[in-house]
Amino acid sequence: MQPAINHDYPARWHSSRDGADIVALIAHGTGGTDSRHYLQRGGDLPDGSDRKVSIHSLVQKDGTIYRMVPDERVANHAGGVLKNGVYSSVLTIGGRTFRGAQVNRHTLGLELENLQNGTDPYPEAQLLAMGWQFYRWRQRWGAALPIVRHAIVDKGRRTDTVGLTVATMELWVARAAAGAESKRYRVKAASGANVRQGKTKLSKVVRILEQNQAWEGYETPGQQLTVAGFGTSKLWVCNADGRCVWRPLLDEV
Ligand SMILES: [Zn+2]
Repeated sequence: MQPAINHDYPARWHSSRDGADIVALIAHGTGGTDSRHYLQRGGDLPDGSDRKVSIHSLVQKDGTIYRMVPDERVANHAGGVLKNGVYSSVLTIGGRTFRGAQVNRHTLGLELENLQNGTDPYPEAQLLAMGWQFYRWRQRWGAALPIVRHAIVDKGRRTDTVGLTVATMELWVARAAAGAESKRYRVKAASGANVRQGKTKLSKVVRILEQNQAWEGYETPGQQLTVAGFGTSKLWVCNADGRCVWRPLLDEV
């Protein structure tokens, strides 16, 4: 089942990958309780002391995924610092080594909202949403992409994800994958179908599909709607970016 995906907190800072391939998925812990605004910040002070931070996905404790930077763009999550000519962050994958900003250019980043004090729990809904995001990233960007904890990339400065091993994260990826099945549809309604930013009628329409146009995604419960000629349903079909079409407007193909 697809977690709730929210697009209301886009990050300010992101940049081109310049053709770089994605080689790893980096897992972080925020150290906070609500980091949505923190992960949009930076770059306001003239001395550059407030760093320009960002992340692709922030997973809150309730299992909501905040999509803050599109996968295609670079987020500033694991570049580390340059001190005495040495980058603090280093990532070696398949015999290739990346340092500093190159780590960001070749990775996707996920933040788990958690205090990182060793006692703050990671709730099941959060871990399942995390598993789902990693699973979807592998489907899209490469089935063999490893998950790497930030602590491994920036050994001298970081300890996240505290209390959560890669082995445990992989268990949740497997659990999420077991319930995640994408299907293909076409628009049945003669009047077409709205593609919305979420699973409710109040979500912004981001695209309009015409009759017989294709749609693909995961059936997932959302707002219940009743439409004359199409009945009543709370099922929506949402794609990996969290864009959704009300299920009764579609035929499975
Ligand atoms: Zn981190």
